[in-house]
Amino acid sequence: MTRSISILGATGSIGASTLDLIRRNRDEWRVLALTANGKARELAELAREFDAEVAVVSDESALPALREGLAGTRIEAAGGRQALCEAASRGADITVAAIVGCAGLGPTMAAIEQGGVVALANKEALVSAGGVMTAAVRKHGATLLPVDSEHNAIFQCLQGNELADVRSITLTASGGPLRLWSAQELARATPEQAVAHPNWDMGAKISVDSATMMNKGLEFIEAHHLFPVGLDKLRIIVHPQSVIHSMVEYRDGSTLAQLGPSDMRVPIASCLAWPRRMDTPCAPLNLAALGELTFFEPDETRFPATKLAREAVQTGGSAPAVLNAANEVAVAAFLSGQIAFTQISAIVAQTLNLDRPAAPQCLDDVLAVDAEARALAAEMLEPA
Ligand code: NAD
Ligand code: MG
Repeated sequence: MTRSISILGATGSIGASTLDLIRRNRDEWRVLALTANGKARELAELAREFDAEVAVVSDESALPALREGLAGTRIEAAGGRQALCEAASRGADITVAAIVGCAGLGPTMAAIEQGGVVALANKEALVSAGGVMTAAVRKHGATLLPVDSEHNAIFQCLQGNELADVRSITLTASGGPLRLWSAQELARATPEQAVAHPNWDMGAKISVDSATMMNKGLEFIEAHHLFPVGLDKLRIIVHPQSVIHSMVEYRDGSTLAQLGPSDMRVPIASCLAWPRRMDTPCAPLNLAALGELTFFEPDETRFPATKLAREAVQTGGSAPAVLNAANEVAVAAFLSGQIAFTQISAIVAQTLNLDRPAAPQCLDDVLAVDAEARALAAEMLEPA
């Protein structure tokens, strides 16, 4: 039996890994919507290859190029944010939410409102919308499956168990490419150095988040919403080999961990096949070749982002959305050479210190908080 799938953010790193798995099991899937921000030519090629029903560019100025790329096919071409949400509303059996940033929130919520399965990679959307998104999941009877490797690991370790029996959940962090750098060296880190992740091949934004450890901060908040065991039971440990993707400790002293290669096709496959399993071309684990696995406490002096995220989720209300928005602005500014690496966390901290809007109650509230925090963070950008 074929299943239908939509991929929001099809041209990105997660999108490409998802399409790679679909390509290997072509007859099992019907592709509904594929979306991208710009990259019309690339998107048109994917839409042709996978015979998609509709291709959407969020950036409307890319629509003529998309139309041109799809000329002579029956594939619909559309552009703009509204079209993106409409494409996410086509009732796919499974939607992979793989847009980067809070820009993915609207379309992800549109997919949730269809009540199907949403495989969530877009952690910024959940961090910003938090309770608004989880309430929508409950209201519409949707199933949220975590693509993020740590949360996918936790999800797997929780199968057959009760949250009430969990003593702690530990998110592992690689520590990123700058893990061993001094504070002085960090201040001079370039975008090239920050995105050169040792274990994972990812989009630029999450690569920088990995280097600042904000990725783990966002994941801490993500875990809080996906697995509500209480913030005091969530921990972070640095594990540079990225072999253990996270673990759950139970009240009897048993700890369950999920291990695997550093290849996002593993957690994506676990979502696509859920509750079954499917083949992937990923290299099997070779523990003898790895030799040893090591673990360290995070250093929140050099990498304050996890502390900022923990405080933001403890504060609650609009703080997580502000944290995320300020981080998005600061990371973009760092990538364009506008600010130094260490200013990213500084700008997030400063933005969080300003008066914050009230707790968001609905999607529009979250988007308003996001827009306001972006404007405030943008004012803080100073030349490096
Ligand atoms: P990426 O930059 O490679 O791809 C992002 C995708 O989103 C692209 O298709 C792009 O066209 C689209 N996009 C970007 N801005 C947009 C906008 N304003 N409106 C609509 N579409 C837009 O990013 P990625 O590495 O694939 O990450 C995607 C998401 O998955 C992020 O939230 C990231 O944190 C999460 N994630 C990624 C990985 C990974 O290994 N890459 C692992 C875990 C979680
Ligand atoms: Mg992760």
